Amino acid sequence: MADTLVRFEGVRKTYGGAAAAAVVGLDLEIARGELMTLLGPSGSGKTTTLMMLAGFEMPSAGRILLEGRDIAHTAPHRRGIGVVFQSYALFPHMSVAENVGFPLSVRGVGRAEREARVLKALGMVRLEGYADRRPVQLSGGQQQRVALARALVFEPPIVLLDEPLGALDKALREEMQLEIRHIHQRLGVTMMYVTHDQAEALTLSDRIAVFEGGRIRQLADPKRLYDRPADAFVAGFVGENNLLPGTIEARDGEDCTVRLACGPVVAAQAVDCGAAGQPCLVAIRPERVAVAGVTASDLGEGALPAVLQEAIFLGDHVRLRLSLGDGGEILAKRPAGVGALPEPGGPAAIAWPEGAAFAFRAAG
Ligand code: ADP
Ligand code: MG
Repeated sequence: MADTLVRFEGVRKTYGGAAAAAVVGLDLEIARGELMTLLGPSGSGKTTTLMMLAGFEMPSAGRILLEGRDIAHTAPHRRGIGVVFQSYALFPHMSVAENVGFPLSVRGVGRAEREARVLKALGMVRLEGYADRRPVQLSGGQQQRVALARALVFEPPIVLLDEPLGALDKALREEMQLEIRHIHQRLGVTMMYVTHDQAEALTLSDRIAVFEGGRIRQLADPKRLYDRPADAFVAGFVGENNLLPGTIEARDGEDCTVRLACGPVVAAQAVDCGAAGQPCLVAIRPERVAVAGVTASDLGEGALPAVLQEAIFLGDHVRLRLSLGDGGEILAKRPAGVGALPEPGGPAAIAWPEGAAFAFRAAG
């Protein structure tokens, strides 16, 4: 990639005394101007990756290149990287302006220029009128905007954000997600964003690297990640998915049939699964499962008989929990007020469009 800003090459990190590596064989390129999110559960190696780029942790193996240069021996403050953490880490005894100006003071920027750049940075995060306040006089969202302004003020080529919205409530978090996205679009600054929240990752990112066990499971843009998960982990972690256990019955290239553990035989796209006889998981998004009352024939050939166990009204949509075959269960989701629902406990039928089911390797 011609316009690569950051490149991880075979990076591994094992903390002293730890049995397992925190990050394993990491190869990752971040393009100039993109917002790349590292998404994964707690302990999957996201912060470790970010800290190695920031310079607060050293890789045990491999190299990290920034603008083509190996930064192994460059001290954190000489890397020119802005960092925002979940805990805002503002200096409580300093005003907002002094906090934001701190990276400039450290770099020896003169007073007049410092003041101008602080004002500009406060404008970027919509805090123009707050220069003289102390952090304690600000809300959580405002404090996080100050932290963001402090990371942007010296115009770094890349800003790293580690769960920066984790301490905020849901409404404020969603507002700040859009704000960060807009700042990114406006300034064109490269960002590496860490979160365990898949909705946040889908909202913000140009591309998402899904981490698990110190490895990248999949690297893709949000739509592809959702539509074509690479394995069962990604299928289950990004968005909601039914993951039904079964055994591959027949396989022909990308097509397979699977005998579900609960009985029915279904067609699926073989994404990452073995040959006939191998165990697998069939992934089907709840919103792709159509539910009809009465009999399977209502949904055409290939529909499966099921029993509606529960319908939960959630305002804009209804969640339907159905039992399928012998001991199986499947979740369906549909917009509220669309079509009639079968009676709970009564016979129903389910179906999904061709291509909506994917077969994945069961373990790992
Ligand atoms: P994440 O940010 O995805 O939650 P981390 O990168 O913080 O994950 O952690 C990855 C793994 O490394 C975890 O098993 C964690 O316990 C371990 N780890 C993180 N920091 C340290 C440390 N300073 N010393 C020892 N082990 C650590
Ligand atoms: Mg972390």
